[in-house]
Amino acid sequence: MASQAKLIDGRKVSEIIRAEVREDVQAMVEAGQRRPFLEVVQVGSDPASTVYIGAKTRACEDVGIGTHTTRLQDTVSAQELKDEIRRLNEDDDVDGILVQLPLPSHLSALDVIETIDHRKDVDGFHPMNVGRLAIGQPTFRSCTPAGIFELLRHYSIPVKGKHAVVVGASNIVGSPAAIMFSRENDSGKATTTICHKYTQDLTKYTISADILVVAAGVPGLIRGEMVKEGVVVIDVGMTRVADESTEKGYHLAGDVDQESVAEKASWITPVPGGVGPMTVAMLMKNTLLAAKKSVYPA
Ligand code: NAD
Repeated sequence: MASQAKLIDGRKVSEIIRAEVREDVQAMVEAGQRRPFLEVVQVGSDPASTVYIGAKTRACEDVGIGTHTTRLQDTVSAQELKDEIRRLNEDDDVDGILVQLPLPSHLSALDVIETIDHRKDVDGFHPMNVGRLAIGQPTFRSCTPAGIFELLRHYSIPVKGKHAVVVGASNIVGSPAAIMFSRENDSGKATTTICHKYTQDLTKYTISADILVVAAGVPGLIRGEMVKEGVVVIDVGMTRVADESTEKGYHLAGDVDQESVAEKASWITPVPGGVGPMTVAMLMKNTLLAAKKSVYPA
């Protein structure tokens, strides 16, 4: 079947970002400064979380950022977990703190995130950082939406004045992405629509998108007939679908029916190899910014 969309290569762009971070880390070390350091906190042993943490650890090693993962039992109390985070907040050798989500159901993610010192919140999930994003102040931008903007910038895809439609309104992807598109600052300036599971007649909105970001976690949600010719499609979805034919027993599915959408889109991100590698690269960048105190000068 004919496919006209050009592929947005997240692996390639993430390598460029990593190379920039690696160079900066090298320069810091050569100047006699301490290496940036990322502390990851894992509660329990969710297999997907373990895979994500493995990718983050390897990325740190690749760019020269120091890292350590604190592993806590899934029975840990909120108090114990927050005490651990406060200890890391006080540790001057730790630049970035990341608590891997999701947390077991007895723990409140927001409560835990609010305990992290916002100056070390390299995930960009702390209300201080989200609030600063919303009012256009320097901040740690949530890694996945920040990665999406790096992709658009790399491929010189215009955003200003376009209609950006974001499907999904989570705190970690959809909402910050929509804030970034809608702001009248450097990266944004788009007319922005946010859709979610309560949106009636999704196609009514997706069909008018110049840029369509889909972060719903519903494989195949967006089909060719729901988009217009020339749309730029960013598929954030990453759902594990059981698949006996693969070694792992599953494959990763995006939220976009790639075959039918690629026939109409001008640009599209593949899954995997699109947004995913960018999320990890932007985490490296945020950790570097934390170490340099670029967002919150000392
Ligand atoms: P979430 O479950 O927190 O939020 C999903 C959002 O999609 C909600 O706002 C919900 O209302 C909306 N939604 C659900 N069904 C819908 C439907 N039928 N129509 C319209 N909207 C619908 O999920 P999340 O954490 O934002 O993640 C979304 C997807 O992105 C998941 O597949 C996740 O694995 C993936 N993800 C990928 C990366 C990456 O680096 N590539 C990072 C984070 C999340």
